[in-house]
Amino acid sequence: MADDFDVIVVGAGMAGGAAAIRLAKGGASVLLLERGAEAGTKNLSGGILWGRDLDRILPGWTEAMPLERHIVRKRFGLLTGSRSVSFEYSDPGWGAPPYAGHSVLRSRTDAWLAKEAESAGANVVTSVPVDRLAWEGRRVVGVVQGGETMRAPVTILADGANSRLALGTPIRPDPRLSGAATELGVKEVWKLSKEGIDERFGLSGLDGHAEEWVPGFFPPGVMGGGFLYTNRDTLSVGIILHLGSMFGRSARSADLIERFRTHPAIAPRLAGAELVEYGAKLISSGWASRPSSFYGDGWMVAGDAAGFVFSNGVVIQGMNYAVRSGLEAAETALAAKGSGGPAARLAEYERRLEATGILGDFRDFAKMDRVKWNPRFYTEYPEFAADLLGRMMSDSEGPKRPARESAEAARKRARLSRLRLLRDGYSLWRNL
Ligand SMILES: Cc1cc2nc3c(=O)[nH]c(=O)nc-3n(C[C@H](O)[C@H](O)[C@H](O)COP(=O)(O)OP(=O)(O)OC[C@H]3O[C@@H](n4cnc5c(N)ncnc54)[C@H](O)[C@@H]3O)c2cc1C
Repeated sequence: MADDFDVIVVGAGMAGGAAAIRLAKGGASVLLLERGAEAGTKNLSGGILWGRDLDRILPGWTEAMPLERHIVRKRFGLLTGSRSVSFEYSDPGWGAPPYAGHSVLRSRTDAWLAKEAESAGANVVTSVPVDRLAWEGRRVVGVVQGGETMRAPVTILADGANSRLALGTPIRPDPRLSGAATELGVKEVWKLSKEGIDERFGLSGLDGHAEEWVPGFFPPGVMGGGFLYTNRDTLSVGIILHLGSMFGRSARSADLIERFRTHPAIAPRLAGAELVEYGAKLISSGWASRPSSFYGDGWMVAGDAAGFVFSNGVVIQGMNYAVRSGLEAAETALAAKGSGGPAARLAEYERRLEATGILGDFRDFAKMDRVKWNPRFYTEYPEFAADLLGRMMSDSEGPKRPARESAEAARKRARLSRLRLLRDGYSLWRNL
């Protein structure tokens, strides 16, 4: 049967959008399918887009893409029920080209990427929820939607963390996602005037501020983080939860985001703002959430669908890896087409993922999970840090006590044994 396209890309997120642009610019006939009414409408990201991966296909994109603000300051901190401990990194140089990261609203950026793909010659079709991949034996020959098969020698799965097309197939034999390797993001967007945001966060122009927090007040065993990002005239506020840690516990994500938003360290910045958007979305959890392979006969997997999301509490980076892996998938498909080779030549994709360092990054980051998913970092340690600093900073009466004594008192109050401290400290050191 004749093919309808050279390449079919499923999902018009960062991975799919970038792949479609590169393919169209490389002369391939490409079909980009998106289930949302418009690219980006089904998407939800905090979100800070880090890096310059889009330079490869869209020179000058930082001036043309609908970005919100350029991040010049990052804060990381720990929260207890009412207290907070944080540190900040700021670099005014990040506010000028080449920039470090940008706050984005995905409904705008993804729609813009899809338009760029269209301008480059890609066929972009929205409101198409692809039902499944079209398999002939172990080979993927296209996609099926509404009983109709669209055929291509190469299909790129860029359909995000909850990749229904892969579940229960040779790509992901398990029909369910693993709670241990999946996170749940819950995000709200709050409207506030640009002047109000500038004043509250000490910003000007398009300079932006981003915060990541460890909320030490979640119910015992529930692990996750919180974030607050400045957009032009809105604030993105949210939490990210380790899905497996929620199972069997009575914690509800709606209550947890409420507790985060109303914490004394967060709430004053939201005073008077109006809630304009609310959503939840699954996030892949890095190496542990990778598929059985990144390619096969006729298919490649990119972005969140491949598990390429890094988060360590201080930053979360998935969009940059989505763009980068989408571009490598596109380059592979172009090379296979150029060589007249069969879709089986897609092994080149894995070599490219190695050569660009993506796989190396994720293999290395996997060690972080041993540290990151330690429940004590979400309960005892925030208490310990807040108590220690509280004691040291307020010790004003009577004879001065050595810092060692304050640390010992804070340790006991947080119910941390010395052995635990040593073990966790050693594990942190070894796995960072
Ligand atoms: C709350 C939250 C905060 C985050 N913060 C950050 C951040 O600050 N920085 C960062 O870099 N990353 C962040 N991430 C992660 C980032 O959003 C992802 O890594 C990134 O979106 C992955 O891009 P993608 O293109 O692979 O997948 P997605 O963005 O998920 O895109 C997949 C697309 O496929 C479409 N699709 C799915 N199934 C089908 C189907 N069957 N048929 C047709 N279309 C389909 C979807 O509608 C969607 O448009 C955050 C994520 C969340 C949820």
